[in-house]
Amino acid sequence: MSISGVYYLRVHYDPMRDPGDDKQETLDPEDWESMRALGHRVIDDAIDYLRDVADRPAWQPVPKDVSNQLTEALPRQPSDPALVYEQFQQTIFPYPKGNIHPRFWAWYMGNGTFFGALADFLSSTMNSNVGAGSHVAVQVEGQVISWMKALVNYPERASGLLVGGASMANLIGLAVARNSKADFDVRRWGLSGANQKLMIYASSEVHSCHQKAVELLGLGSDNLRKVPINDIYQMDMTALRSIVRQDQEAGHRPICVIATAGTVNTGAIDPLAEIADFCARENLWFHVDGAIGGVAAGVDALKDNLAPLNRADSVALDLHKWMHMPFEVGCALVKDSDLHRSTFSVNPEYLVRGSRGLAAGEDWFSDYGIELSRSFRALKVWMSFKEHGLDRYERMMARNLEQAQYLADAINRDESLELMAPVSLDIVCFRYIAPGLEEASLAALNGEILLRLQEEGTAVPSGTTLKGRYCLRVAIANHRSQMADFDLLLGEVKRLGDLLVSEQLQVR
Ligand SMILES: *Cc1c(COP(=O)(O)O)cnc(C)c1O
Repeated sequence: MSISGVYYLRVHYDPMRDPGDDKQETLDPEDWESMRALGHRVIDDAIDYLRDVADRPAWQPVPKDVSNQLTEALPRQPSDPALVYEQFQQTIFPYPKGNIHPRFWAWYMGNGTFFGALADFLSSTMNSNVGAGSHVAVQVEGQVISWMKALVNYPERASGLLVGGASMANLIGLAVARNSKADFDVRRWGLSGANQKLMIYASSEVHSCHQKAVELLGLGSDNLRKVPINDIYQMDMTALRSIVRQDQEAGHRPICVIATAGTVNTGAIDPLAEIADFCARENLWFHVDGAIGGVAAGVDALKDNLAPLNRADSVALDLHKWMHMPFEVGCALVKDSDLHRSTFSVNPEYLVRGSRGLAAGEDWFSDYGIELSRSFRALKVWMSFKEHGLDRYERMMARNLEQAQYLADAINRDESLELMAPVSLDIVCFRYIAPGLEEASLAALNGEILLRLQEEGTAVPSGTTLKGRYCLRVAIANHRSQMADFDLLLGEVKRLGDLLVSEQLQVR
């Protein structure tokens, strides 16, 4: 029996060909033994690279001649992998972003680890797609999610999903919040089903990914209300109550409060217990952005502040930040797994579940998020937690907290430096000051200090503006930083500041 209509593709094969004739081309190595030798070299080079990272600049720009090599056309013909690797070594390997370096403290990033990188290699080797099906990678991810729940004291019945990072984890939490707290079927009607505006609340220090999330969820960025902060950069509860009240009186429908456990500017932890009480009273979804601080819930110094994480309806965590797993890996947790599933689950014919074989299993990770095909990122989490154990991770985080206090104390003792915000976690904001300089000149001066620190390869802080005042920002999510690295930083900031001020004086 034949099916007509399938012959419009002009694909030809020889029906007389003997299938035993020849071995057909694949994408496997032409010579496994030379690939083995190359693989060994890659491992050796990668170990040297990380072992010696402190001897290299914290950052360096990509030279012009290197950039020029990265504009070639899409290759048509094969190349020897050894030559491709050689080009990688010359043009790519020497110019990392810098976050593997002991003096990289910009934005908020982790260092990664060698064993984590090996795990990523093994994960790519197995190349399991963890969206669906019954295979061991699914079970590994399940175990890792149980560990994440244990980390924040979440009940075992909660659900979770590993994702690319906290941006995605927050989007997932907020999607469940929206669908659960709207009084109509959002999946069916979209927001055209709404007869009230759905409102979300977060402090003015909330991470920008939430704006993207509310925009993508159709809620609109105006309806993400930015609540003012108190003098230690936490959400101001009085302000929250009154803004929610105003919105209710205006006929809007408040649905969710986003608390941040470790803000990106200063590391502030919003008053989680008070927000949890408020949400319970007002029937609001309580979401916590724990991208920075969530994984530190077990660290002694933070235990009390972070304990109410387990009262959240959903939590976003990042493992590629303070837990130093190689990019990317974050985790979304949702306390009510039914609400989580009912936000994302769809069952088309080609994804029908079986009771036996590879398609077995009622619960597929693709039912809990946006992506169907998903990498086996759980492996690096599983292998890294086994390699180090939670205690060691907590020691690393506790040490970063100490380093932040050490840095803040040194800044406070120095007349040419000014601490710009209380240090509530591992983030220190400060600036160089000199008598007689106005706000604008101080901003320009500190901006120039920052660029020179980076360009000279000494250290990589970032900059931010707090209450209208520009400053340097040192985010110490770094397992390689030593105390001496902070002495070096302050020495250089002062040297550069003095130098720039004296150059200014000469110009005048
Ligand atoms: C980094 C960060 C995010 C975004 O996380 P990604 O992993 O970069 O997607 C969200 N919230 C806070 C507080 C962050 O620090």
